[in-house]
Amino acid sequence: MDLKQHIRHVPDFPKPGILFYDITTLLRSPAGLKATIERLSTPYAGARIDVVVGIESRGFILGAAVAERLGAGFIPVRKPGKLPAKSIKETYALEYGTDALESHADAVDSGQRVLIVDDVLATGGTAAAATQLVRKAGGDLSGLAFLIELLGLNGKAKLPGEKVFSVLQY
Ligand code: AMP
Repeated sequence: MDLKQHIRHVPDFPKPGILFYDITTLLRSPAGLKATIERLSTPYAGARIDVVVGIESRGFILGAAVAERLGAGFIPVRKPGKLPAKSIKETYALEYGTDALESHADAVDSGQRVLIVDDVLATGGTAAAATQLVRKAGGDLSGLAFLIELLGLNGKAKLPGEKVFSVLQY
């Protein structure tokens, strides 16, 4: 199955000059959803992942399904002010603006093997912030998995030494 055929390209969203990769057109396809989760999960089948960290909000959709498939738990990393209990925070630069991410302070147990999942690796700022949160919480980061990697933005440069996997590259 050619997943790229199901991804819609939306020019100038959410700002002029940004080409937005819209995965809703992929996820609405039963075969597309199944293939997406299979291809994101398969590289980690033997990796003994304890928990998948999904980044708000499309990382929740993909991350929870990957976690279930790997027999792992799921942890949401959220935009500020959404989590109810004591949280830790990291600020970062986005392709279009700045933002911050939070996770519950007690979400990851020390030494747990963690996989971070998101839909798009663009400039890498979001993923780098999630990486910091996992490390602050004491997690053992096994890697980061993305459906889409935008090679021209070189997000991997913000993730030195990390194992980065992407299903599709543009
Ligand atoms: P970045 O921090 O620049 O790597 O941005 C990654 C985050 O922003 C991911 O959570 C994506 O969902 C979103 N994102 C950034 N650029 C795009 C894009 N061109 N198309 C779709 N989502 C994007």
